Amino acid sequence: MDISVIVPLFNEEESLPELFAWIKRVMDTNDFTYEVIFVNDGSTDRSWNVIEELAEKFEQVKGIKFRRNYGKSPALYCGFKEAQGDVVITMDADLQDSPDEIPGLYQMITKEGYDLVSGYKQNRKQGDPLSKTIPTKLFNATARKVSGIHNLHDFNCGLKAYRREVVKNIEVYGEMHRYIPYLAKNAGFAKIGEKPVHHQARKFGTSKFMGWNRFVNGYLDLMTLWFLSNFGKKPMHVFGFLGSLVFFIGFLSLIGLGIDKSIDLYHGVYGHLITDSPYFYIALIAMVLGSQFFLAGFLGDLISRQNPNRNDYQIEKEIRCGK
Ligand code: UDP
Ligand code: MG
Repeated sequence: MDISVIVPLFNEEESLPELFAWIKRVMDTNDFTYEVIFVNDGSTDRSWNVIEELAEKFEQVKGIKFRRNYGKSPALYCGFKEAQGDVVITMDADLQDSPDEIPGLYQMITKEGYDLVSGYKQNRKQGDPLSKTIPTKLFNATARKVSGIHNLHDFNCGLKAYRREVVKNIEVYGEMHRYIPYLAKNAGFAKIGEKPVHHQARKFGTSKFMGWNRFVNGYLDLMTLWFLSNFGKKPMHVFGFLGSLVFFIGFLSLIGLGIDKSIDLYHGVYGHLITDSPYFYIALIAMVLGSQFFLAGFLGDLISRQNPNRNDYQIEKEIRCGK
């Protein structure tokens, strides 16, 4: 099979028939063999009935129905597990992403050797600059910086294409769908590209991602990812370093304290209490903090050694004798 299209959706009943018809048209004109996996993320409208109706008529339609709303990342995760196509394409259900981009994306993966190609909504059709455009720019700049993937303008574009191996080797959870290129990079898929794509205004329904808390969560997720990718397998390296540093500062303060006291004694001053000196407080706090960091490091290592995936490494190829 050439292509799997994965469509995560939450209450998008009006868009689905049109979306599938459009995908089908594109696939048929290009002679692709394909499947479309609709992942119904706990919709409360008729979305699932629409998917069932489509599946009755077209063998390419597959569906997964969540019992409740889990979010876009879990929906993608389950779609990825099912996908059989050589190239996997994810697409929002709301008709904002154009299926006409599919052949171009397919070419980039199969002919140009990309592992992942992300769409780039150059002319974003999303109203309000305060709640969407400006935060999005800021978000992308930060994501570029932290992930080290400097050539992407639009991390969160729903339209993306992957080599099948990529989606089978990454785990999208929580709200990590915003950082799939970073996940892919961490899994060793380095050839990540971008394709400017057409973007249309939402035709039916409303956006499911509004409000400010998604930015807070977005940044927290990014920090987690950064930490996991740099220290996930060796937490002691970061906490041990911090602990040593802080402990060392405490130790220096202790020496300062000693010197202070000696000078006092030398001058015959006996009345000064040790708690009068700022060094005392620095030493106290730094030594307590330093030991805490160490403890966090030990605990982190203990926990990471319990992880059943601790020795999962991405093996690309193997040569075994005689085969
Ligand atoms: N979506 C989902 N689960 C959710 C929220 C959204 O599967 O909990 C789907 C939604 O139906 C759409 C895609 O994710 O297909 C992108 O959502 P939306 O278009 O609302 O986001 P926006 O384009 O406004 O960023
Ligand atoms: Mg949308």
